[in-house]
Amino acid sequence: MTLQGKTAVITGSNSGIGLGIAIEMAKAGADVVINSFTDREDDHALAAQIAADHGVNARYIQADMSKGDQCRALIEQAGACDILINNAGIQHVAAIDEFPQDKWDAIIAINMSSAYHTTAAALPMMRAAGWGRVINIASAHGLTASPYKSAYVAAKHGVVGMTKVVALETAREPITANAICPGYVLTPLVEAQIPDTMKEYNMSREEVVENVLLTRQPSKEFATVEQMGGTAVFLCSDAAAQITGTTISVDGGWTAL
Ligand code: NAD
Repeated sequence: MTLQGKTAVITGSNSGIGLGIAIEMAKAGADVVINSFTDREDDHALAAQIAADHGVNARYIQADMSKGDQCRALIEQAGACDILINNAGIQHVAAIDEFPQDKWDAIIAINMSSAYHTTAAALPMMRAAGWGRVINIASAHGLTASPYKSAYVAAKHGVVGMTKVVALETAREPITANAICPGYVLTPLVEAQIPDTMKEYNMSREEVVENVLLTRQPSKEFATVEQMGGTAVFLCSDAAAQITGTTISVDGGWTAL
């Protein structure tokens, strides 16, 4: 399908799922804006590489998604935002009575509130362009819970709720809002959880992957960043024009259990 002439802004996209989605969007012909809070040569090189590989315009814009004004500035600097992918996210694992307050605040800000700010800034651009797609990367944890992930589960449930509201507020317009709910995808965010889990349960890496991470993923396979990108591209297609206000699970059967 061709997304030629559309601009996709993907938050938190210098690694993992966000980068995978940016690449699939570029393959489909969209110009892309990738983002993170860093400002390294590598970040700009990544955008240049996407542009060279896929013949689209690609830019890196630094903005910290924990700060509301920077979320809004990202969309303004992008100049156009036909497709908004709210993907930036972090994780912290601790019992709720030991959960550090700064981690709680950061997870709520980056994983949930950033989507409010970017959506508020992007909707007027979508309305002016006469077409728009809001795609929020929630999680299986937007639909179910696990212990020790209170902030993450709260934020992801919040994102799913906000997605429904945005869909209702745009229901009479050529704009849709949906959430993709991935199961486990092997990205730096998941990789970072493995050493602590190995220590906590006294397990090998393989045991953690099979018995902890993928224990609720019946397929026993990680989902891939390409599959997340492909799902996002589908949500931009005409076939998905009446899909709005819902979640699409890409979780190997997790939420069927
Ligand atoms: P990742 O750590 O590879 O990527 C996270 C991205 O967010 C990075 O590009 C990072 O630079 C960026 N980021 C972090 N803090 C930021 C900030 N303050 N401002 C701007 N950017 C910031 O992780 P990932 O696994 O690719 O996760 C991407 C999204 O997918 C997250 O919202 C995550 O919750 C969600 N998700 C991941 C999985 C999984 O198994 N990996 C499962 C379900 C949902």
